[in-house]
Formats: sequence, C-alpha cells, structure tokens
Amino acid sequence: MAPMSNPAPSDRPRRLLLIEDSELDRLILRQRLENELIQVVEATDGLAGLDLCRRDPPDLILLDLGLPGHDGFEILRRLEDNPDTAAIPVIVISATVDPSTRVRSLDLGAVDFVAKPYDLDELRARVRVALRTRRLQQLLERRALVDGLTGLANRAAMEDRLVTEWAMYQRHQAPLAVMIADLDRFKQVNDTFGHAAGDDVLRRVAIVLRASVRSGDLAARYGGEEFVVVAPHCDTAGALTTGERFRQRLAEPAVPESPDGLVVTASVGVASVPEDGAASPGDLLAMADRALYQAKARGRDRVFGHADLAGRHGHGRPLARF
Ligand code: GH3
Ligand code: MG
Ligand code: MG
Ligand code: MG
Repeated sequence: MAPMSNPAPSDRPRRLLLIEDSELDRLILRQRLENELIQVVEATDGLAGLDLCRRDPPDLILLDLGLPGHDGFEILRRLEDNPDTAAIPVIVISATVDPSTRVRSLDLGAVDFVAKPYDLDELRARVRVALRTRRLQQLLERRALVDGLTGLANRAAMEDRLVTEWAMYQRHQAPLAVMIADLDRFKQVNDTFGHAAGDDVLRRVAIVLRASVRSGDLAARYGGEEFVVVAPHCDTAGALTTGERFRQRLAEPAVPESPDGLVVTASVGVASVPEDGAASPGDLLAMADRALYQAKARGRDRVFGHADLAGRHGHGRPLARF
C-alpha cells in the first residue's frame, strides 16, 4: 500500500465532550478520563454541547440525560438529525435505570448506556471501546475517499468536492475550473517496463500534480492513468497555467528518474464556469474531457481549453486545421 498523505486519526489525542450539569460529576469524570490520549472538553447544558460539536466535532460524547432545559433525549435527537454530528458516538449516562430509558437512548442513536452511580473502571473501559470503534470508522471513511496507489483523493472524493464547489459557484459566482489530465501512451509504459514500473510512474505523477496545484485545489486520481483537479476561484486562464506547469514539471528529470529512457507526458483538458456555460458539474467535467480529447488529437503532451474548441476566443484554432 502507498503511504497516505494525511495524518491518521490515531496520531492525535482523542477529544471527549462531556455534557453534564453536575459540577461534581464533571470534576470526577475529567480527573479519571483525561490523560495524554484523551482530552476532555465540558458543557454544562445541551445547547452549549451542541454548539461545541458544531464548532469542533469531538470523537466521543458522554451525555447526561438529566439536564436543565433541553433534556438528553432532545440533544440526542438533534445530534442524530445533523449530518455533521450524526456519526459522533454518544454514551448516555443516567440515574434513571429503567429499561425503557435505556432502550429509548439506544434507539435514538446512543452507542452505549451507563447507569449512575457508575463504576469508573467500567466507564473508562466503555469509553475505550467507543473510541476504538470510532477510530476504525474514521479509518474506513478516509480510505473510502483516498486512492490507495497514489494517496490522492479518489474519484468519489473528487465528485463530492465538485458538487460542493458547484454550489459555492452558484452562490458567489466566483469562477470554478476543472482540469483532466491523461497520461500519453501509458499502455506502452506498462508494455515496455512492466506494470510495477507503471505504478511507480503513477505515484510520481501524483507527486508532481500535487506540487503543481494551489493549496485550495483538489487533486484526484480519477481512474487508471487519468487525474482531475478541481480548482475553485480559478478561471480558464488560471487553469491553463496550472495545467501547463504540471505538463512542464512532468518533463523535468525528477520524474523520468524511473527506468532508463522512461519519459512520461500528459495531455490536459480544461474547462471553467461561467466561461464555458456548463449547466451542471457533470457537464463541466464533460467539457474538460472534450478539451482533453482535442489535446490528444492535436499531438498529445499539451494543454487545451474547452473555450478554444469552438474558437470562441475570437480566432481559436479551427478544428479543420490539423
Ligand atoms: P493515450 O495517449 O491515447 O491516452 O494512450 P494510452 O495508452 O495512455 O491510453 P489507453 O486508455 O489505451 O491505456 C491506458 C493504460 O493505462 C491501460 C492500462 O494498461 C494503464 N493503466 C490503467 N490503470 C493502471 C494502473 O493502475 N497501473 C498501471 N501500471 N497501469 C494502468
Ligand atoms: Mg444531570
Ligand atoms: Mg486514459
Ligand atoms: Mg492515456
């Protein structure tokens, strides 16, 4: 497996949010739960707890049911209803021990229920279990969005991001560009040097691509030997510059340091809104793909903008000329 780029969730202390109105309970729980691996933050009522969750989601919530104002059930419901907080595990703590309270808590989304007065060793063990499960879940979530070979965002992550940026574009009308790069005659690389060398090249291309884009851009492996960049606040001219930078860096010696004589080039297609008038994120991607097709048709190892396809920039290059 390729090394992944973002720090693993296990590399940082876990944040535990304690929503509890009793000062004594908060004091005891903090003393017994906080260590170098677990950082405890506190809220004395449900709304303050929800607010903390939205600003900086914790890894686990310990929720007292008997709270002033909105009770624990109401807070559980609100946590579940908000997609940003629904995945945070909640352990409910309550002095009410009848089975219906336990059942209701679990049905509303709690992962566990601990009755007061609690045994602190047992509570700590349950906290460890919940954090362990959460960590596995986060690992899987991350893997689902990361390309295993290159460590770049994968296609699903790219599509998510494109939809998000499209919504931002519609709201603020700042330009949005996408770029598709496809390696040239990559099948030959595999045929000549072997599939493992081909994989090596793909990893290096990913490094060059990442270094060629701005920090707010998303660089993704779209599939096979195709890469996509989503570039918010970027118009066609900016994306052409990025594409050209990538294309040129690919030709620098750092990349073909692989097997002797191995030189990789890429063809790149670019499209942007509002310039190209795309009607949807898929449309924008299709436009960049058509531009890529032209870059291939015109000889590969070049960057082409969709706006130039129809000669919309005045005298573009008429398609009949090549
Ligand atoms: P063109 O310039 O027209 O794009 O030619 P091409 O050979 O790059 O295009 P084609 O689509 O015919 O072939 C793409 C090749 O990429 C096919 C496959 O062998 C290779 N490929 C796709 N995914 C991987 C991968 O994960 N690892 C390796 N080593 N090769 C891959
Ligand atoms: Mg209470
Ligand atoms: Mg291809
Ligand atoms: Mg190719």
